[in-house]
Amino acid sequence: MRVLIINRGEIAIRIAKAVNELGFTSVGVWTDNEPKAFHLSYCKEWLRLEGSSNSETYLNQDKIISLAKENNIQAIHPGYGFLAENSGFVRKVEKEGLIFIGPNAEAIDLMGDKAKSKKIAKDADVPTIPGSVGEVPTIDEAISVSNEIGYPVLLKAVAGGGGKGMRVCFNEDELKTNFPAVQREGQSSFGNPGLLVEKYIQNPRHIEVQILADKNNIFHVYERECSVQRRHQKIIEEAPSAFIGNDQDVRENICKTAVRLAEAVNYDSAGTVEFIMDEDKSFYFLEMNTRIQVEHPITEETTGIDLLRNMIKSALGQKMDISSQEEITQKGHSIECRICAEDPVSMLPAPGVVSGFDLGAMPQGIRFDHCIYPGIEITPDFDPMIGKLISFGINRDVAIDKMKEALNQLSIYGLKNNILLHKTILDEENFLKGNYSTKYIEVVKPQEKVNISSDDYEEIFTNVVISGELK
Ligand code: ADP
Ligand code: ADP
Ligand code: MG
Repeated sequence: MRVLIINRGEIAIRIAKAVNELGFTSVGVWTDNEPKAFHLSYCKEWLRLEGSSNSETYLNQDKIISLAKENNIQAIHPGYGFLAENSGFVRKVEKEGLIFIGPNAEAIDLMGDKAKSKKIAKDADVPTIPGSVGEVPTIDEAISVSNEIGYPVLLKAVAGGGGKGMRVCFNEDELKTNFPAVQREGQSSFGNPGLLVEKYIQNPRHIEVQILADKNNIFHVYERECSVQRRHQKIIEEAPSAFIGNDQDVRENICKTAVRLAEAVNYDSAGTVEFIMDEDKSFYFLEMNTRIQVEHPITEETTGIDLLRNMIKSALGQKMDISSQEEITQKGHSIECRICAEDPVSMLPAPGVVSGFDLGAMPQGIRFDHCIYPGIEITPDFDPMIGKLISFGINRDVAIDKMKEALNQLSIYGLKNNILLHKTILDEENFLKGNYSTKYIEVVKPQEKVNISSDDYEEIFTNVVISGELK
């Protein structure tokens, strides 16, 4: 079995490891942009995906399919981003007799559009956030929905993702200004101007449930809490949720609700149902990500289930490693810090070249999923994530201690990064108590407490390299 990995960076490495361990041949791709991409060293073979821009390479469906056919590939793993949630691509892949390692195209269609998926959730008795039923085509309609549900409201691009295409409106004037802006963002970033209106929930928690399914079974692999966010994008995730804590009824309820939704669309792969949880622990469906997610490792650490391995087995029609829900249990606690090339105070992307990095002496219980090497350029073309630091401990306090030490040990040179912001958050009392919502960064402002006069901050700029060459 030859599996083509049409992605790059840490997720390409993560996929290659799972493919290799299953005894299959991992085939990586390189583009003219990154001829020496580090993920290739984990693949058994590699192929040139000609071109530089994403549209010429990782998004070029026909080129990818021809490459697969010319090289005797049987299955394609898309990773996350790029073509991972593109049902048209899935159909093309299947038409050529190849296997797409991901869910069926219909499930992607049903869940890929935020307005459509909300309707399906409603029909499956899954609580949804009050708001429009389906897309809202005009400003007048948006005003009337907003008057009904009350301000503040959120305008959301139906095809949006990665925190993009979303604007909060506190009154009608703001709604009038934001409506065309969200339409434009939807069109330019996702090729779809459609938008929906929903109630903007104050101080919610972002809690999501991992789904793992094949053609016969749909299991949940418990929850993750991802409330530490900037610009509606996650930076720290943990499993289990500190907010749900020992409330097993709530945990069981949210997990079973996620399974019910997955059942409604005949889901058959790894995926995630995202919810927003209110202060009283009532929860509402947000969206479903029909792919492997960035933060999947914390679920792997706390359940012992290899999500990538099982996602691949499921797509190939092989028996998964677990055969009943009862076999899946949560143990201990895991935290993930997304290490990004961004200013630790402004939290804005700061692309550059990694001149070197040092793992130091990582404590027991640490996993670092990354794809960096001296000389790698973090470009504005891709997500500025450098890697994911993941800790596991027997309980939350232990996982925090281990993460703090890992952050002390890890040094990344040559470009700005957010290690200092993570350190500040892991020392901050609200975070330590598990008392934080998606407004955490906005309200507690840990970024303002980052000690930029520390030696660590100076260290970032030592060994700076110019144009990818190590000095
Ligand atoms: P994306 O596709 O960009 O991930 P989501 O719908 O999952 O979009 O929302 C991303 C984040 O935006 C959520 O985790 C949450 O913090 C915030 N958010 C989304 N919808 C609402 C809402 N109705 N009220 C409050 N916050 C929201
Ligand atoms: P997760 O939902 O796993 O936390 P992110 O939301 O950060 O992950 O998205 C994972 C990757 O996929 C990021 O690189 C992000 O930019 C990209 N991404 C997410 N949703 C979309 C989308 N609808 N279109 C294009 N890229 C997306
Ligand atoms: Mg989301």
